[in-house]
Amino acid sequence: MAIDLRPEIRIQPIDHPINRAAGISLSILRLDEIHPVVSGNKWFKLQEYIRLFREGDYAFILTFGGAHSNHLIATAAACAAFGIPCRAWVRGFHGQAIETETLKECRKLGMELHFIGRDVYSRHDEIFLHEVQLQYPNALIIPEGGYGPMGIAGAAAITNYIPAETELVCCAIGSGTTFCGIANGLLPHQSALGFTVFKQGATIAEELQAQIPHQRWVLATDYHFGKFARHTPELIDFIRYMQQEHNLPLDFVYNAKMLWGLLDMIKQDKMAAQHILCIHTGGLQGNRSIAHLLEA
Ligand SMILES: *Cc1c(COP(=O)(O)O)cnc(C)c1O
Repeated sequence: MAIDLRPEIRIQPIDHPINRAAGISLSILRLDEIHPVVSGNKWFKLQEYIRLFREGDYAFILTFGGAHSNHLIATAAACAAFGIPCRAWVRGFHGQAIETETLKECRKLGMELHFIGRDVYSRHDEIFLHEVQLQYPNALIIPEGGYGPMGIAGAAAITNYIPAETELVCCAIGSGTTFCGIANGLLPHQSALGFTVFKQGATIAEELQAQIPHQRWVLATDYHFGKFARHTPELIDFIRYMQQEHNLPLDFVYNAKMLWGLLDMIKQDKMAAQHILCIHTGGLQGNRSIAHLLEA
């Protein structure tokens, strides 16, 4: 499916008993609807890299990720849309082609895959990225997840879709790139609440602080459900409930944890804002790995 370069993005109001009881208007910016497999936020994070590629003198895009990575699919689809050759180094056991659904899709979109050992590669390791660049001087290298200043600049464009009456914007945090972009694009009366989806989320605060030029943001770090990509029966029930009763699909890694956490905070009377907008970052392709749990 082709990608619309300036997509219309729907805002879905949510009338859940918890936000209704609190008198809070809650809606969801459906970035997930941009594309069936490309995570909405990944698409935005890639925009500046794509622009750089087209303006520069590069031969191909090279990036990195795991075998279930939303970032790899997004990169493959974006490169396909623009006719850009792309390669990915997939973290895993050396030479062992673990063909996940995600990787099959990447290959179908024309991405060239190379498998590398976990020991060769560590996330966002600048020395490693520098060495790869020396090895492939004509490659435009995108760090895993679209991490970094270019990713932040791309993600800031998401705020063009936020209505002015919004007081609080919520977003799930992986590397924090999307969150920084959103925080950077807020209007002065708006603030941001980020939900970390991995253990010890507070450890990311300092890194975020360095990239956000104001103090109108906070983290909620208690809603990781054990650790990154871990799910519980309670979380699965919540995903099924939101789909069935509110027509809202949620991925189990990011957006389900964010919304569960937000509703929990509203229930505990911790929210002062009257108008809250959640950014649905997509990630629904990842639910294929738990399809058997989500079926009725
Ligand atoms: C990657 C991803 C995130 C996290 O984005 P960061 O910019 O790394 O914080 C959130 N949601 C989905 C669906 C993602 O794929």
